[in-house]
Amino acid sequence: MENKNVAVKTQNGDEVSIWFLCKGCNTRHRIVVGKWTWNGDLIKPTFTPSILCTWNEPSGDKRCHSFVTDGKIKYLTDCTHDLKGQTVDLPIID
Ligand SMILES: [Zn+2]
Repeated sequence: MENKNVAVKTQNGDEVSIWFLCKGCNTRHRIVVGKWTWNGDLIKPTFTPSILCTWNEPSGDKRCHSFVTDGKIKYLTDCTHDLKGQTVDLPIID
């Protein structure tokens, strides 16, 4: 059993989604292959362009904006979480 940093799921016949764990948000984010490019690597994935997630909570508007490159997440400074501006390794995902 190999450790992976992304989970690949195929839905609706042929739509391929890639999920990764975000330590900044403590949740999973998803990209859809075709809307983003993926280098095909499960350990050191690269997605382009950047991944932007926004949502609302009672405490205010939340934003997570990152580049995933070579198995690392680079958080841009417009994130609302504590890892903004930092680059961290992608965690292992089930
Ligand atoms: Zn996030």
